[in-house]
Amino acid sequence: MCVYVFRHNHGGADVSELIIGVDLGGTNVKTALVSRDKKVLGKDSRPTRAEEGPEAVMTCMAESVEAVIAQTGARRDDVLAAGIGAPGPMNWQTGVVYSPPNLPGWKNVPLADEMTKRLGFPVYVDNDANVACYGEYWLGAGQGAENMCLLTLGTGVGGGIVVFGQLLRGIDGTAAEIGHLKVMRGGRACGCGATGCLEAYGSVTGMVRTAVEGIESGRKTILTDWCKGDLKAITGKMISDGIEQGDEFCRWVMNETGVWLGIGISSLINLLNPEKVILCGGMIAAGDVLFDPIRKTARELTFEVPANRAQILAAGLGADSGVIGSAGCALARFESGI
Ligand SMILES: [Zn+2]
Repeated sequence: MCVYVFRHNHGGADVSELIIGVDLGGTNVKTALVSRDKKVLGKDSRPTRAEEGPEAVMTCMAESVEAVIAQTGARRDDVLAAGIGAPGPMNWQTGVVYSPPNLPGWKNVPLADEMTKRLGFPVYVDNDANVACYGEYWLGAGQGAENMCLLTLGTGVGGGIVVFGQLLRGIDGTAAEIGHLKVMRGGRACGCGATGCLEAYGSVTGMVRTAVEGIESGRKTILTDWCKGDLKAITGKMISDGIEQGDEFCRWVMNETGVWLGIGISSLINLLNPEKVILCGGMIAAGDVLFDPIRKTARELTFEVPANRAQILAAGLGADSGVIGSAGCALARFESGI
């Protein structure tokens, strides 16, 4: 086993150099041990056991943290802090997680305090989309930019915004809900209770809805065979596969999804003048079929100066933006005392 030494001597005082990031998802807990100089030294992933409730989930996270420390041979004294990216709603300052839909039995869980007790070093809790954004800023495709936005394209559309190196949180910590930018008056109903949200068009779920509406209006596609006439069985994966098979309708659906995302992103670019807008999630594997309409639409609808500035890019950390961002965010909060 390779044993790392992470204590640097600064003016006679030992300074710890390691941070732990934890990505708490409904299905898996992912953990990474990262050095202050941004090297990922070890990783762990295990099932969340969400159905067993908060105690079991916290035990699972603590075990994952211990595993990643043991794996690298680091000393736990060398760990400065840990960050957890958790699903909201939550209070990021107190570290209390209210009642995330994908974590059954969670109600006002003081996650930061409980995990600090279990681990023995400071634990910071943040919204999962915000930490993913910070991960891309810190170590991913956002490196070198001080102003950037991230959109996570999954079942919903999550968002994070960094302005001059800091997450934009808003007074209650609820800022950067990019998925709920309105892109249409009286449009599709959204899970948030409003209508016309970007998420209802630009998420995987929104894309599937576009496909179903198209088929219902009489468009011909291989999807009808694949789902055996049951339109509820259509998935995002089927649409991607359809594009690979040369299905024109599937290509149109992905293009439409890109146009909707481009509309939302044009507002972000006009509003924030970011250097980079980064997209993550399984859908980005579609590549140019998705990115071309996003870039074209965003450019058409945006002022020239911010449009020239903003690069629209795929995430650089793949599925690890969250776990690495949790570590980066914890380091930033540890150092700034927030
Ligand atoms: Zn909404």
